Amino acid sequence: MKYELPELGYDYNALEPHIDEKTMRIHHQKHHQGYTDGMNQVLEKHSGKLDQPIEELLENLESLDIPQAEKTKLRQKGGGFVNHRLFWNIMGPNKRVDDELVEEIEQTFASVDSFKEEFSKEAGNIFGSGWAWLVKNDEGELEIYSTANQNSPYLQGHEPIIGLDVWEHAYYLKYQNKRGTYIDHWWKTVKII
Ligand code: MN
Repeated sequence: MKYELPELGYDYNALEPHIDEKTMRIHHQKHHQGYTDGMNQVLEKHSGKLDQPIEELLENLESLDIPQAEKTKLRQKGGGFVNHRLFWNIMGPNKRVDDELVEEIEQTFASVDSFKEEFSKEAGNIFGSGWAWLVKNDEGELEIYSTANQNSPYLQGHEPIIGLDVWEHAYYLKYQNKRGTYIDHWWKTVKII
């Protein structure tokens, strides 16, 4: 199974002024393309053994019958592929609020604002490159945590719902060392809550 680079669904400048066009172009066309190509290389090399969807391969990574180095590559590149696919999809210029999700967030975190606060804190505390997540865990409950590098929540059987990329490539051109400012502005691009 071979994947194409997913489309953004909006223009590269659509998230201005919060996320600048140049960052979006490089992030999508270079970084996400790189993860897509790297993942496809592993999938093609072991075609026949890896014919499930990438989410399932990540969930069952350790039991796959491929060399350890290829598992590592699939975790990194396949993780990068699914993480960014979600990232583009939860952002956008037009709100399309998911009422059901909002209700679940309110039930779990008391309010959307307190959820945002907790999530932003998690994101701000990541040391080095990684992602902050809102996931649905294996008990079907919403949970906030972070992962290092491109590690996907699918690795532990969790469904990612909202993900924030805090790798420097996601914000450094515009925000440099001000990760907290990037996080505050990023919320203005999230269209589903
Ligand atoms: Mn990224």
